[in-house]
Amino acid sequence: MKRRSCLVTLAHYSPHDPDARISVKPGKARKLNYHCSLAVDAAQGVISHVRADFADGRDSQHLPSLVMQVQGRLKENALLMQELLADAGYSNGSNYHMREQQGITGWIPVFGKYKPEIEGFPYDNRRDRYMCPMGKPLPFMGFDRTADGRLLKNYWAAPADCRQCACKPTCAPKARCRKITRTAYDEQYQRAYARQNSRRGKRMKKLRQSTVEPVFGSLVQHYGLRKINVLGKSGAHKVMLMAAIAFNLKKYMKFKPTKSVIMVTALEKERQQEFRRGPFVFSLLFFS
Ligand code: SF4
Repeated sequence: MKRRSCLVTLAHYSPHDPDARISVKPGKARKLNYHCSLAVDAAQGVISHVRADFADGRDSQHLPSLVMQVQGRLKENALLMQELLADAGYSNGSNYHMREQQGITGWIPVFGKYKPEIEGFPYDNRRDRYMCPMGKPLPFMGFDRTADGRLLKNYWAAPADCRQCACKPTCAPKARCRKITRTAYDEQYQRAYARQNSRRGKRMKKLRQSTVEPVFGSLVQHYGLRKINVLGKSGAHKVMLMAAIAFNLKKYMKFKPTKSVIMVTALEKERQQEFRRGPFVFSLLFFS
C-alpha cells in the first residue's frame, strides 16, 4: 500500500487518515500504524478475539477491555477463562491486580527493570516499611502517581537519621534523606515474578511463543494483514476481523475429530473441559 509514504507529515499526522498513529517498537521502523490485539486459545489455536486500536497507546492499557470482551464471549458459550498468557508489554500492577481479583492466573512477565528486592534494604511486610543497612526504618509516607497514572508508594528515612550517618554520601548523596519509591502493586509484581521464574512459567513462555507467533505470521503472510488498505480505525478493525474469520474457518475445515461420530457428545464435553482449562494467549502487533 503506497498511501503511507506520501501522507506522513512533519507533525507525524496524516490528515488523510487521522486514526493512523506513529508507533515505536524495538527493531521496527517508526511509522503510522494501527494497533492489532489478538487473543488465541492455546488448546486449538483458534483466534478468539481481534481488535484494532490507535497505535500510540501503551500495550498494557488495552488488556482490561480485551479480557472483558473475551470473557463475555466465553460466558455466552458456558466457557471460563482461567489462565492468561501475554508478553511483558501487558505488564503493569493494576493488570496483575485485576487478574487476581478475577481468579485468572496471569502468565505475564514483569518488565526487565523490575527488581523484587532492593539490595541492603529488606522489606518489613508487617509494618510496611524498609530497613536500611544502618538499621534505621524507612516507613511508608504516602502514595504518588507517575505521569501516565501508575500508582506508587513512597518510603522515606528520617532526615535526622541520615544527616548524621556515615553512609549518607553514597546512600543519599543529593537528598536530605534516603527515599524509596515502589509500585503500589509490589505484592502482585512479586507473585508474577515468582510465576515467571518457575518451571511452569518457563513452559508457559514457550507455549505463548509457539501459539500466538505462528498465528500472527499467518495473518501477515497469508491473510492480507501486511498492509491495511483502508482508512480509519473502524475500517482497520473490519480488515482484521475478516482475516481472523478466514483464518478460523480454514482451521475448522481442517479439524478432524480423532474419535468416532458416536463419541461426538463425549468428545464435545471433553473439549469443553479442555477449553476451560486451556490458557488464552494475548498478543499484539502493529500494522500499517
Ligand atoms: S543515609 Fe539514611 S538510609 Fe542511608 S544508611 Fe544512613 S541512615 Fe540509613
